[in-house]
Amino acid sequence: MNSTFVGGGVAEILSRMVPLVQEMGVDARWIVIKGTQEFFQVTKKFHNALHGRQEDITKDELELFLEINRKNIEELNLDADVFFIHDPQPIVLVTQKKKLGRKWLWRCHIDVSRPDQRVWDFLLPFIVEYDAAVFSAPAFSRPLAIRQFLISPSIDPLSDKNRDLTPETIDSVLTMFGIPKDKPIITQVSRFDYLKDPVGVIQAFELVKRSVDCRLVLAGGTATDDPESGKVLAEVQERAYGNPDIHVLSIPPDSNIEINALQRASTVVLQKSLKEGFGLTVSEALWKAKPVVASAVGGIPLQVRDKLTGLLSHGIEGTAYAIRQLLTNPEYARWLGENGREHVRYNFLITRHIKDYMLTFLAVGRPEEIVYL
Ligand code: UDP
Repeated sequence: MNSTFVGGGVAEILSRMVPLVQEMGVDARWIVIKGTQEFFQVTKKFHNALHGRQEDITKDELELFLEINRKNIEELNLDADVFFIHDPQPIVLVTQKKKLGRKWLWRCHIDVSRPDQRVWDFLLPFIVEYDAAVFSAPAFSRPLAIRQFLISPSIDPLSDKNRDLTPETIDSVLTMFGIPKDKPIITQVSRFDYLKDPVGVIQAFELVKRSVDCRLVLAGGTATDDPESGKVLAEVQERAYGNPDIHVLSIPPDSNIEINALQRASTVVLQKSLKEGFGLTVSEALWKAKPVVASAVGGIPLQVRDKLTGLLSHGIEGTAYAIRQLLTNPEYARWLGENGREHVRYNFLITRHIKDYMLTFLAVGRPEEIVYL
C-alpha cells in the first residue's frame, strides 16, 4: 500500500513487483490510499522534514493527515496475511492491527538518518506498532523497538524503462523532443523537486560548458502525491530560458520508453540530489552502462562506488569537475559504465528484491522456520 500509482520510485517498484509476485502464485494486491491535495501538501512536508528540511507543520495539518487516514481505513477492505505499507502517507493504517492481527511491515524509502525531530516524534507511535521496519540503506536505520530489515530497491531489466532499445527508437525519441545529436548529452531524469536540485544541475552544466561543449537534458514529470513540482518546474524553465543547449522536458508519467531512450542517448547521466532515498534513476542509468555522476547522498553510494561504478560528487563545482572528467576521458567513462552495469546485475535487479521480500515475510511470519547460517 502506498499513495500513488504513478510517479516516483515507489510506484515504479510496485508496478513491476506486484505482477511478478502474482505470477509466482502469491495473492498480492496493490492498494493506493485516497488523498486530497491538502493531504498531499502535508505529506510532502513530512517527506521534506524527514529528509531534514525545515518545515512548519500546524496542528490542523496533523489533524487533517490523521482524518484522511481514518477515512481510508473506513473505505478500504483490509484483508491480508501481510500488510506492507510504504512511506508515511498511509502509516496510520497500522492502527487496525489491534483489530485484524496479521503481520504489518512499514517500508521507509526516505533517508531518515537526520529527520526533523517533531515529525519523527509524531510518526514514531505508529512506526513501533508495526512488526518490522524496512529501510533502503544501512545508514537510514534508527534506534527502534521493532525489528529492522535492509532491503534495497531494484529495477526490472525487462520493463519498457530498462529493456534494450533499437538505435532507431532512441533517435526517434530525440527527434520528438527536438534534441540534436551534435554534442555530448548530459541528462538528469527526476521529478521536479527541490531535493533533486535541478537548478544546481544547470549551474554545474554552465561550468562544464566553459571548457566542453555539450547539451543538458532535464526530464521529469509530476507525481500525484507531489504538489510542489509545478513550482519547481517553473523555476527551472526560467533559469534555462534562452539557452538552446538546455532542454527542459515535462513529460507524462507513463513515458517509460522515452526515459529509457533519453538515458541511452546520454553521454553522462547525472543525479545531483541534495537528499535521496535510494535513487532508482541511478540504477536505471548504470544498467544501461552509462557513466554516472551522482551526489554522495542517501542510497546513491550503494550504487555508485566512487571511481569504480561511477563518480560521486559534492556540490556544484565538484559535479562540474566530475562531468568534465568523464567527457574528456571516454575510455574511463566506458569502463565505469560497464562496471556499473555488473554492479546492478548482482545487487539491484527485481529478482534479488523479490527474494528479499519472501525472506522478510518468512522472518516476520514464521521465525521458527528461519535457519541462521
Ligand atoms: N521517473 C519517471 N518519470 C519522471 C521522473 C522520474 O518515470 O518524469 C521515474 C524514474 O525513471 C525512476 C523513478 O521515477 O524510475 C524515480 O525514482 P527515484 O528513486 O530516482 O526518485 P523518487 O522520485 O522516488 O524520489
